[in-house]
Parts: sequence; structure tokens; C-alpha cells
Amino acid sequence: MSRTVYVNGAYVAEEDAMVSVFDRGFLMADGVYEVTSVLGGKLIDFAGHAARLERSLQELEMAAPVSDAELLAIHRELVARNAVVDGMVYLQITRGNPGDRDFAWPDPALVPSTLVLFTQSKPGMADTPQAKTGIRVISIDDIRWGRRDIKTVQLLYPSMGKMMAKAAGVDDAWLVEDGFVTEGTSNNAYIVKGGQIITRQLGTDILHGITRAAVLRFAREAQMEVVERPFAVAEAKAADEAFITSASAFVMPVVEIDGTQIGPGKPGRIATRLREIYLEEARKAAV
Ligand code: PMP
Repeated sequence: MSRTVYVNGAYVAEEDAMVSVFDRGFLMADGVYEVTSVLGGKLIDFAGHAARLERSLQELEMAAPVSDAELLAIHRELVARNAVVDGMVYLQITRGNPGDRDFAWPDPALVPSTLVLFTQSKPGMADTPQAKTGIRVISIDDIRWGRRDIKTVQLLYPSMGKMMAKAAGVDDAWLVEDGFVTEGTSNNAYIVKGGQIITRQLGTDILHGITRAAVLRFAREAQMEVVERPFAVAEAKAADEAFITSASAFVMPVVEIDGTQIGPGKPGRIATRLREIYLEEARKAAV
């Protein structure tokens, strides 16, 4: 069945949705996005995603096409129209269609940004069997640009990373810069050693994960020790546990890196507990 999607103020059937070939998102990857999970028909961590979107727009001097309240209303309307129980809402804002190709940005007063949203249904998403077995990763060079804190649609290298992982017969890749893990292709990366949860500190070199913020808050509330610092692949191989977080994977255990088993090669106690806490709290706070 065809989905209803949202394009610049209109709810339309996906086959009727249109964006110009001159749109800067298409020509220049000049756009930002957010992915908000839906569980039980409700939005997870919506306020965090809206706040990060605003920051991404500000960093790129791009205008917000609608208010946060309107954004929430559009998300809810799409979830309802598409009868999404579990899944995601994808949102993208680009610098719009200046009517031609030019490196210089158009005047935002003359060229409105493009706003597109669509849903992806994933029934039972929170009960994926992968959470019971964990995922396997490889490490690859992080050759992305230097402003990874802005959530842009420039996802070619993360896509290549996923393909490298696929070619290696594993699930994902961790990106390594100057000997230290930055993050996963589409998630934040963590290790656990001696009860300490270790994850890279925030900066311009990683995306400030909304799930990361929530999970670290829950970990601290549960009296777990959190250390925000870089870690190397060798340290990850010698860790007791590892895991990733993202809006769509929640908390996902990692059981192998570059062919080396982490701990007993099974999801660890802390990752498993954090997944339970996150899902419970996120469902409670869903809107
Ligand atoms: N890092 C990168 C590079 C990502 O693409 C994502 C997912 N958007 C994350 C981290 C996790 O962020 P979030 O928890 O907000 O989904």
C-alpha cells in the first residue's frame, strides 16, 4: 500500500510527491535530517530530535520552515495516516530550490527551504532478535568531514562503511581517527571495562546522539559509572562489553570487533540492562 508522505505543507501519496531537480539537497547534499522512532504509535525522544534539528539548521544558517509545535503535529499526523505502530519518522530539510545550480547559497528570504517527512513501518522493532545475539563490527578509517555534530544528509561515506561491513560479512563498522574510535556509521559507540561505561566525549567529531544523551542519563541515575573519553580499537577488543546507541537501534550489544570476540562474545550485562531501562523510560515519555 502506498504511504502518505509530507512535502512542503501537503500530505500526498508517495508516488505523487515531488521535489525539484534543482533542490540543493539533491545537487549539493545541502540539507539536514532527523530520524525519530515510533513505539506503540508514539514518538520517542521527540523534544531531543527537535532541539538537535534546530541546532543543525542554525549551524548551516538555514531557516526553520515550521515551528516545533507544527513539526510535532506533522509527525503525529503522518504516524496516524500511515497507521504506524512501530517504526520511524524521517524528516529532511534542505536549502530549497533556487531554480538553478550555484555554489553560493540563495537568499533564504527568496528561496524557502524544502521540508519532507515520511514514515517507515517496522513492526516489533524493539524486539529484534539481534538484541539477544549482539552485532559484529569492523573498524575502518574515519574520512568524513570535520563537522559531524551537524546532522547533514551527506551520508555517502557511512553508506560505504556499511557496504564494507557487508562485504566483510558483519553488521556495521566503527570509524577510527588518529587511532581512536569516533562512532559507528550511524550510531554512537561504547565499551564497558571494569564496570565503567566509556564513550567518546562530545565535540565536532561525532554526532551528539539523542539516544546517547538519554542512555548516559539513565546510566548515571542507576549509579553506573560513565567516562567520556576516546578509546582505541585495541581497548575495545580487550573490553568486557561493547554496545552502540541510536534512535532506531536503541541500545544494541556489540560482541565482536575485527574478528576478535569482546568478553564472552555475548551481549553483556550492562548493555542488556541499559537497553531495558532505555526502552522502558522512552516508552513512558513517548508523545
Ligand atoms: N552517530 C551517527 C553518525 C549517526 O548517524 C547517528 C544516527 N542518526 C547517531 C550517532 C545516533 O544518534 P541518535 O541517537 O540521535 O539516533
